Amino acid sequence: MVLDKYARGISDLRISLTDRCNLRCTYCMPKEIFGKDYQFLRKNEWLRFTELDDLVEAFVQLGVRKVRLTGGEPLLRPGLVKYIHGFHRFPQIEDLAITTNGLRLAEKAAELKEAGLNRVTVSLDALEPELCGTINGRGIKPELILAGIDAALGVGLGVKVNMVVERGVNCGEILPMARKFKKMGVTLRFIEFMDVGNCNGWNQERVVSGREILQQIEQEFAVEPVDLTSNNEVAKRYRYADDTAEFGLITSVTQPFCGGCTRARISADGKLYTCLFASEGMDLKAFMRSDDYSKADLLARLMKHWGARDDNYSEVRSMQQTTKSKIEMSYIGG
Ligand code: SAM
Ligand code: SF4
Ligand code: SF4
Repeated sequence: MVLDKYARGISDLRISLTDRCNLRCTYCMPKEIFGKDYQFLRKNEWLRFTELDDLVEAFVQLGVRKVRLTGGEPLLRPGLVKYIHGFHRFPQIEDLAITTNGLRLAEKAAELKEAGLNRVTVSLDALEPELCGTINGRGIKPELILAGIDAALGVGLGVKVNMVVERGVNCGEILPMARKFKKMGVTLRFIEFMDVGNCNGWNQERVVSGREILQQIEQEFAVEPVDLTSNNEVAKRYRYADDTAEFGLITSVTQPFCGGCTRARISADGKLYTCLFASEGMDLKAFMRSDDYSKADLLARLMKHWGARDDNYSEVRSMQQTTKSKIEMSYIGG
């Protein structure tokens, strides 16, 4: 039975372009598990750009106006810039964004902007060099990622920064990160450590709640909540009282927002997921490569599948008895 509460439209589409990554963040792709023997998708398993175009066309008909490209690391997908350029054929898309670890952003920012990208969200979890390198699993220092952020700002891309906060790891970085990005006028979003996937050693004690994060920030800054412009907004937004800079709290664990969750997610191998914590998705690629494929049928299948969803994992997290393995964050892209 579909509960009215969960009969919600689709506001945005997240497309994972690859499950591969050039980092091994401890909370996402711990290197002990994502080592050289890990079976990533083969490139011929990825949805082709032409197939993605059909999907975007269908989702636009279902009301989607925002698309985010993610991964794994989306800047690793060959042909990305040309693919972004192709979005000009969808004038209905008002916002085209990418989530990236920023490693290749300095070299790519100008061509991404030129191709039509509107915004980037860059992930960075610490400014202290040793800690940053430990968290990203590859010893990458923050300077490289900050250079990517500067380049994106320099070419006029909208920029936000995501920081996953984990107890015992980077709580001491909350204030230094807040100070840095306040000064730069860049919105920093603090994300509660989530139990996505099966291998990041998540437990409730390691979650630093949005409330605790806010308390830390309020020790140094006067802040005020910002009225939400859209009810699809997942971050709770705050403004510093003494300037226009903002920050956000993404409290998916302590204050879940399943009832307002309107994101469709496509994995790199063409499965549709209606929840980050799902075990199984709807295999669109198999259908799109079959003799039965038609655009009209694709639209009908998407509508049917979406209409039947009743996802509410975060609201019932503590009652979950499931032993099913969940999809990994690097596969579905956040
Ligand atoms: N590689 C790109 C990046 O890191 O920005 C895009 C993909 S990454 C999976 C998307 C977002 O998910 C990043 O901002 C990352 O910090 C976040 N993320 C990954 N694992 C997470 C977890 N266990 N809890 C909360 N956020 C997580
Ligand atoms: Fe890679 Fe992004 Fe996951 Fe870090 S969070 S391992 S950069 S996919
Ligand atoms: Fe959406 Fe699933 Fe997260 Fe709830 S748990 S907000 S349904 S992705």
